[in-house]
Amino acid sequence: MRRLLVLAALSGWGWAQPQYDMTRTRPLESWKRQITEYSRRHYGEADWRLKPRCIVLHYTAGTSFPWNLVNTPDFAGETPGLASHYVVDGAKIWQIIPPEVRSRGAYGINHRAINIEMVGADARDMIHNRKCTLDTTAELVRDLLERFQLTAKDVYSHQQVAEMNTRVCPWVLDLVNGEPYHKVDPGAASMRYVLDKLAR
Ligand SMILES: [Zn+2]
Repeated sequence: MRRLLVLAALSGWGWAQPQYDMTRTRPLESWKRQITEYSRRHYGEADWRLKPRCIVLHYTAGTSFPWNLVNTPDFAGETPGLASHYVVDGAKIWQIIPPEVRSRGAYGINHRAINIEMVGADARDMIHNRKCTLDTTAELVRDLLERFQLTAKDVYSHQQVAEMNTRVCPWVLDLVNGEPYHKVDPGAASMRYVLDKLAR
């Protein structure tokens, strides 16, 4: 029995393997073309490929599925539209873009980050009403950390990225204006909750 428990701990038994819904994806052909150009403009790298170095968590600032992440053709005067890699709502995970392809979710770090959007109205809503979403996100993040050989130290909030402080978040880079921008996203309590779950 003891050996079984040790094995279970080693294999991460007790964590549900994430199930991905692939019915709400971005068409990849045009996305790759546009994100290559975006990457060239913002990061000086004409490449759509992502070798993830970190994971950035967000909330959607709404309570229904964020179709804009799947449908909008552009944002702030340039293509492609906004899109995270994943959207999490309750027990459900949608993969919008594969994690090997760059997304457009967090200004300044899209060349290095996997972006995850959690459905929630605001920071309070997130931590008070959406524990299930936070639990699912922790499972998703755990799976991604393993797949891409990252650690919990590589998980950031969009808020941390927005500070544009390379001591806080070493991958952040912005060739447009280099200025920090402020935002609460997804909130300190939700970040603590997810990171605590990962530590267990
Ligand atoms: Zn965000």
